[in-house]
Amino acid sequence: MNLALWVERHGRRQPEDPALADGERVHASWATFAARTAAAAAGLRDDFGLSPGDRVAIVMRNRPEYLEALFAIWHAGLVAVPVNARLHRDEIAYILEDSESAVVVTDDDHAGDVESLVGSVASLRAAVVAPGERWDRLTASSPAPLVGRQPQDPAWLFYTSGTTGRPKGATLTHRNLLMMSLSYFADIDPVTPQDCILHAAPISHGSGLYGLPHVARGAVSVVPESGGVDGDEIAALLQRWPGMSFFAAPTMIKRLAGDGAVAAADLSHLKTIVYGGAPMYLADLEDALAVFGPRLAQIYGQGETPMTITALSKADHADRNHPRWRDRVQSVGVPRTDVDVRVVDDTDRDLPAGEVGEVVVQGDVVMAGYWKQPDATAEALRGGWLHTGDVGSFDADGYLTLRDRSKDLIISGGMNIYPREVEEVLLRHAGVRATAVVGRPDAEWGEAVVAFVVAADGAAPPPIEDLDRTCLDHLARFKRPKEYRFVDALPTNNYGKVVKRELRDRLRVEAEDGAC
Ligand code: AMP
Repeated sequence: MNLALWVERHGRRQPEDPALADGERVHASWATFAARTAAAAAGLRDDFGLSPGDRVAIVMRNRPEYLEALFAIWHAGLVAVPVNARLHRDEIAYILEDSESAVVVTDDDHAGDVESLVGSVASLRAAVVAPGERWDRLTASSPAPLVGRQPQDPAWLFYTSGTTGRPKGATLTHRNLLMMSLSYFADIDPVTPQDCILHAAPISHGSGLYGLPHVARGAVSVVPESGGVDGDEIAALLQRWPGMSFFAAPTMIKRLAGDGAVAAADLSHLKTIVYGGAPMYLADLEDALAVFGPRLAQIYGQGETPMTITALSKADHADRNHPRWRDRVQSVGVPRTDVDVRVVDDTDRDLPAGEVGEVVVQGDVVMAGYWKQPDATAEALRGGWLHTGDVGSFDADGYLTLRDRSKDLIISGGMNIYPREVEEVLLRHAGVRATAVVGRPDAEWGEAVVAFVVAADGAAPPPIEDLDRTCLDHLARFKRPKEYRFVDALPTNNYGKVVKRELRDRLRVEAEDGAC
């Protein structure tokens, strides 16, 4: 089944109902959304000579055209490559090259960078700016029939960085995204056509994924005009759109819970806030529950098994009288309906409740593999189970608590930062002999990036502005270290491997002592 069938179907069944909204304004009814999708699919196919299975990237901030592009790509049987629009031009270039994207749909904000890649990225034939004259022409083509897809056909290449430092495309099939959507209804919430999803977080990631169950049920997709999270705007949109749900990283929830406009708003139209993607501190959760009431649900997932490993339901959040409530709200909940989740030791043997090991997952939501990376795929999916790299333990009731990440991942403001990427860039600076990048607890961002730097032999530490410039030349701004610490040597173990845990512990102790 092709996921774009949902749009086509609602276009017939509820043609006049709003499908896409630009803030308070209706951008497209279902009839219009379906017509534009079918037309743009024809335009993509004919103007650029694309065939089913070819890749089309999207580099755009949140806007209604994002969803038009996504569903047009699927309607034509193509594979979408939604790229984090905050990445550096070189990082975007790498993803377009790796996915061999033939066309990229972008917007005015990113056109400069993206258009300059046509010619340098071998596979890339064109960049289309939406909204814009070319996009208008594409969406006015004669409609194409929906191209049938098999469940195992790729739908979305979800680029996620890894310990290797280079992002890999988790290949999500139509079946994966269908299972993700169905298990949203089973474990998080039912959805009706009277509901809406607010895209307050990037559509290229969690918000776009969780937009799908809402499209499936004919609910409205609302994109805030600011393209992001603004308390006043959300408060106003709540008055306009009932049955509202949205996905947000814990740092965003914390910001919104402390926002005067949100606290003063009538929340009767707010249905559910799904948070996840990073740990939520208990104190922050308690503040959020005080403001939002029993409307919070937590999910734990990763790109490789989109948004779907475990969930902590709204009912669990509300069940304050339960003797283990505090433990439960610090857990990531229970396995989702459509997956089997185990905690295993180094030899993949099951560990009993209470013992800490790696979380592994099996089910129809688990990716087909990493795009063109058979070795990395075999490693991640060994034994038929996705090895998440997350470390945790089950309790006797089946609630999973994450203890650590075996990967070095830093999550700052809901964005994933793999230290290796930052280290590689810092090492390009002639004044840096060695470096180790770790996360430090940060009240506002969850974690902040800290680089420990050993200066080149006999040299004075390089100026921080130089290091910053080197990072900005090659990396997205949000990955740049917030702090540099110059040290004589990095702590290493017997094998000469840097012991990052020691650096992290040092920062944590300082933070607890209030020293920084
Ligand atoms: P991504 O692939 O970008 O979605 O990042 C996935 C990673 O984020 C997971 O492997 C976890 O380490 C972390 N993560 C996701 N959800 C949660 C959660 N609810 N609590 C703690 N960490 C999480």
